[in-house]
Amino acid sequence: MATTVLVYYDFRMLGHNPHGWDPDRPEWTDAVKAMIELQYPNANLDTYSHPERPGRLTAIVDRLLNGPIDGLRWMLPATASATQLERAHDAAYVAHVESLDGQSGWLAKDTTAVSPGSVTAARLAAGSGISAIEAIAAGEARRAFCIVRPPGHHAPADRARGFCLYNNLAVAAAHARQALGHDRVMIWDLDMHHGNGTQAIFYDDPSVLVVDSHCAAPFYPGSGLLAETGAGAGVGYHLNVPLPMGFGNAALLEVFEQVVRPAAHAFQPELLLISAGFDCHYLDMICAMDETGYAAVTQRLCALADELCDGRLVMMLEGGYNAKALADSTYAVIDALAGNPVSALNVLPDDPGSAAVADAAAFHGTSIAALSRTAKRRNPALPGLSAGPAS
Ligand SMILES: [Zn+2]
Repeated sequence: MATTVLVYYDFRMLGHNPHGWDPDRPEWTDAVKAMIELQYPNANLDTYSHPERPGRLTAIVDRLLNGPIDGLRWMLPATASATQLERAHDAAYVAHVESLDGQSGWLAKDTTAVSPGSVTAARLAAGSGISAIEAIAAGEARRAFCIVRPPGHHAPADRARGFCLYNNLAVAAAHARQALGHDRVMIWDLDMHHGNGTQAIFYDDPSVLVVDSHCAAPFYPGSGLLAETGAGAGVGYHLNVPLPMGFGNAALLEVFEQVVRPAAHAFQPELLLISAGFDCHYLDMICAMDETGYAAVTQRLCALADELCDGRLVMMLEGGYNAKALADSTYAVIDALAGNPVSALNVLPDDPGSAAVADAAAFHGTSIAALSRTAKRRNPALPGLSAGPAS
């Protein structure tokens, strides 16, 4: 019997389409044309298209409709309200984005643009995670996947960045904390790029533990060093795992086994949120994973959530720009969330990421031990933990 998986999707997220250059479309302003020419000087404006495009989502949905998964239940997301967005973003930034509703243009100082449907799409993307965690809290299911765009993890509190308008996962995490009363939320960002926005939003917050595995700086966005462990009360609650280009399935599973699993046992989250970017797929950019790796990791995440937090697990789409890789990976992940058997894992003979994972696990050992001591002080009945001295 399949496990129910709530899958959130709304076709209005296709309305975010500022980069699909069409000379016949009047909404393309002179400012948009000028910015493309400035930022992409070699682009042919007659054929220019942007990697973060509506076809990403239609590829995923087509794949899911052509191979129905037992247990998948399609859900419509609610629109995030300004109050909900302002839990993760500055009110002035939310007001600025909202003021662009129905317009075309570039957000100042960034590569992220809006078309007339973008603000609606962004509100729905941010609302998806909220809808998912509320449905899970209400007992409708334990697991959910949000098919969303624009993505979110590069957006900090006060600006758009890296194709992201609102930080969808951060909005969901903040909602879980402030509206649903979860004391501890854990995030794993496994997109190929560092989730600089998510890190910035929760950098001094010990109620949100963030693990982020990604291609190491200077790769975009250039942050996510081992030493970026948090600030103030949040020191030790950011566990970055920078990896070399070319890493494969084995390395991501090692991130799970050596960092995510021990950190989760130490932190004892009440909700597990995953920034699921699929741009580590070998068809996409510069890494060597495939859908068997994403499925294997998802299977382990389900078991971890079942063990620690009554199964509460929400995965949210971030990047992934090759349509086939994106569709195959999302399909494999949702199939694994539904509890179906996963395909045999493809592994490289010698994964170039393994050594870096081991280094990161060693580096973060002190932080993870401190998380254990904090959990033990909170609940002395926890098994297998040593309280140790206060630190
Ligand atoms: Zn990415």
